[in-house]
Amino acid sequence: MDPERLPTGIESVDRILGGGLETDSVTEIYGEGGSGKTLFCLEVAHRVARAGDWVFYVDTEGVSVDRLRAIAGEGLEKILKRFLLSTPKNLEEQGRAVATACALAREGKRRVGLLVVDSATFYYRLSLSSSDEDTARETLVLQVADLVATSLAAHVPVLLTNQVWRSLSEGTLEPLGGSFLNHAAKTILRFDRLGGARRRVTLVKHRSRPEATAEFRITASGLDGSAPS
Ligand code: ATP
Ligand code: MG
Repeated sequence: MDPERLPTGIESVDRILGGGLETDSVTEIYGEGGSGKTLFCLEVAHRVARAGDWVFYVDTEGVSVDRLRAIAGEGLEKILKRFLLSTPKNLEEQGRAVATACALAREGKRRVGLLVVDSATFYYRLSLSSSDEDTARETLVLQVADLVATSLAAHVPVLLTNQVWRSLSEGTLEPLGGSFLNHAAKTILRFDRLGGARRRVTLVKHRSRPEATAEFRITASGLDGSAPS
């Protein structure tokens, strides 16, 4: 296995990524609601935990265990023993959860195979247009900077999800989090809904791969990227 790549296990996506997620940088996934961001994170996390490595998972949606059960089936108990799950209730709690995960990953006592923040921008979005907007941006920037440094220092792939806003002037869907997040992430994937269970993945940014697209299908037991795309 390429030490610089973590295979996601979703064939079509691994193909456009040149084997999988980079292990020393942050990968951002953005896309509209229902585009499959959370399912993708859970699928990769399940794969890492099944192989015996730790997954640090910061979950702002609070629904991950139920959905993990659908992917893991009988193996759920074993998988959960390798999960350090936190469910922050606001941006400050999210900051503490990220700081703890980063510190433990750098400490190196456990073999950490993946660090996930889903969604990195849910609580940040709530604070937009309020008087706390600047503080919220600063908090998010600090979290992302910690994640970038940790990924590089500890060789842990970091997966972040990001929500979108619709630009009324352009009519396009744009990622939240400002330019800092989009510079900090060395790989950026955009997810779009196609018909039914089909989803398109666009590789928007990568250090060493060309822009490309792939497809997967959402099934009852996980994501299937084996169909030709
Ligand atoms: P959000 O931004 O709201 O968090 P998301 O991008 O994380 O959304 P997911 O929660 O990963 O989206 O994906 C949910 C989508 O998966 C929904 O559109 C749902 O209809 C679809 N889905 C879930 N289970 C199945 C299934 N068994 N077959 C087909 N589609 C499914
Ligand atoms: Mg989600």
